[in-house]
Amino acid sequence: MSAKSAHSNSVRPENSAGSVTPGVAPRLSGIDTWVFDLDNTLYPSECNLFAQIDVRMTGFIANLLGVDKEKAFVVQKRYFKEHGTTLRGLMDNHGIIPEDFLSYVHDIDVTAVDPNPDLASALADLPGRRLVFTNGSVPHAQRVMDRLGISHVIEDVFDIAAADYHPKPRLQTYERFVSHYGINPKSSAMFEDMVRNLTPAAELGMTTVWLRSCYSYGALDHRAESVHYEIDDLVSFLKAQHGG
Ligand SMILES: [Mg+2]
Repeated sequence: MSAKSAHSNSVRPENSAGSVTPGVAPRLSGIDTWVFDLDNTLYPSECNLFAQIDVRMTGFIANLLGVDKEKAFVVQKRYFKEHGTTLRGLMDNHGIIPEDFLSYVHDIDVTAVDPNPDLASALADLPGRRLVFTNGSVPHAQRVMDRLGISHVIEDVFDIAAADYHPKPRLQTYERFVSHYGINPKSSAMFEDMVRNLTPAAELGMTTVWLRSCYSYGALDHRAESVHYEIDDLVSFLKAQHGG
């Protein structure tokens, strides 16, 4: 049974090839490197942790530009769309120091995320390496992974500083990531809630898995040919990979 959606033109093919429902998750054969986005991927978007970061970003921009929150929000979303991340837009247009921004926006309450022992065991049982590839920071990733209880099963975190502040979906950042860890993209799988971040991964030959979220921006710039699997439940999909 194939779950490839390479020829599907539908953004959400609920019951067509490409959509994976619990209990019928397919196995990815030959994958030896498992690459995970962090925010809204390793924890569910429903817990709204990222909403806290989003509000902090708006506050940062309002302070920086001396505008109200409505105006700041418009700038924030424009930079996100045009520069890959809000941070990159702020660096390019206002010359901010990225560390200041990151420590401000990640000053959030991570108890909104529940510990997830099922995720930890599903990750632990995957055959091969497990890496996190995030547009956030290492300290943020570590806090979230500690809260989830998965830090011990993740080999390393490649963050926005490691990417020299050039965020996903910039192709060169993926090349840098692949080269840093000596990864063979053709035996790697990448998991993301933002579908546009899967396009460069697919271009490099990775198998891609889109974890659909409750945020509409997750589907922004959807390209069917870059999305090999679409799932709603990460743990059940990973559990289907055991023994591979
Ligand atoms: Mg994400």
